[in-house]
Amino acid sequence: MNQAEDKQGRVVIVSGPSGVGKSTICGEVVKRLDNVCLSVSATTRPKSPGEVDGEDYWFLPESEFRERIDNDLLLEYAEVFGSLYGTPREKVDEVLRAGKTVILEIDVQGAKQVKANFPDAVMIFILPPSTKVLADRMNGRGRDDADIAEERLDGAGAEIAAAWQYYKYMVINDDLHQAVAECVQIIKNAQSES
Ligand code: 5GP
Repeated sequence: MNQAEDKQGRVVIVSGPSGVGKSTICGEVVKRLDNVCLSVSATTRPKSPGEVDGEDYWFLPESEFRERIDNDLLLEYAEVFGSLYGTPREKVDEVLRAGKTVILEIDVQGAKQVKANFPDAVMIFILPPSTKVLADRMNGRGRDDADIAEERLDGAGAEIAAAWQYYKYMVINDDLHQAVAECVQIIKNAQSES
């Protein structure tokens, strides 16, 4: 087997509370590993300033999102903070067929659904160094209304508690470079195991 053949595609799930830095970490991981790509989720939540349709998310009206559920076009989906989020199935299948690795940046509910279909999915949960740091990062981001921000912070506690049960790898995002390096190593190890 040559070097290209012995690296097989894997599903990698990255979860963590809002504001913990998942998108930044995943973006950096993808830059460092050329056989890894990021799935773009569909969502019914409104686009935030600076977000680009088709890059950050596929922003869909609820009717279109539900049509995709009915046509079985989503690998998983969940309602998170009052909006629907889901992973388009086709892109994941395409990437895996090409022997590449795909990262799904999704919540714990979605992660459980994916794990049921892909039992060898690599499960990574990103933790903030402390609740205070998470709250500061969320406020600094300034994206949400105060009530949504509070809901997200409350949700973080429940999500972290659930994570200890389901996720093999817990990565603390205290130092971004360190967190990225840990995720890169976890993915490389998983690829060489398969
Ligand atoms: P945000 O609105 O902050 O971008 O994302 C809110 C939450 O939705 C985050 O926990 C994020 O991981 C989750 N999320 C994003 N995309 C998906 C998806 O495709 N499926 C599921 N289940 N959750 C998602």
